[in-house]
Amino acid sequence: MSKIVILTGAGISAESGIETFRADDGLWAQHRVEDVATPEGFMRDPELVVNFYNARRAQAAEVEPNAAHLALALLEAEHHGEVVVITQNVDDLHERGGTQNLYHMHGHLKGALCYACDHRWPAPMVMAPGDACPSCTAPAARPDIVWFGEMPYEMDTLFDHLSQADVFAAIGTSGNVYPAAGFVAEARRAGAHTIEFNLEKSAVGNQFAEHRIGPASQTVSNWVNDLLQR
Ligand SMILES: [Zn+2]
Repeated sequence: MSKIVILTGAGISAESGIETFRADDGLWAQHRVEDVATPEGFMRDPELVVNFYNARRAQAAEVEPNAAHLALALLEAEHHGEVVVITQNVDDLHERGGTQNLYHMHGHLKGALCYACDHRWPAPMVMAPGDACPSCTAPAARPDIVWFGEMPYEMDTLFDHLSQADVFAAIGTSGNVYPAAGFVAEARRAGAHTIEFNLEKSAVGNQFAEHRIGPASQTVSNWVNDLLQR
């Protein structure tokens, strides 16, 4: 009855057609990260930021979960033990692929957050700057996204999961940088087997015991088939 904890990053959504902020064309290329992904940028120009996330929300609605998302949902459904998926992604491709035990550590595009009272509610497809909070009525709605300089959600709970992990897998996220680097260290302390899934092999000094190189749609599907002995 082993516990499998999985961290996913931009690489798993990229195969569905979601742009990452390292992409050199499209949505992100038209903006600086400090303008659209920091609380200071939002305070400076809320309209720009709200419109940026409206565009990302629309883009996410147009794409579909890929084989890697579906494989992780299958693993959760059929593994005789617990499967926890932690994602850095703000799209809903894991949910739409069928994953239920899921943490959005960086928030999600389908959420709105009140910066006056911290109330959260489902975001409309098109948010407007100054939308009123349904709880306190302040015109203080913002996308429920964890921006640079803000604290990721539920870190205590995530580290509790990692401290009980038998297997820790990182998919489509650089294993050598935050948060994967901290997560793999905690999982190793717990005695977990650690696996990194990436398009290319990471630099030296990598803490993962096993590396599977290639597109996540293939490598993750193969891994899940191995685990489920299908
Ligand atoms: Zn409020």
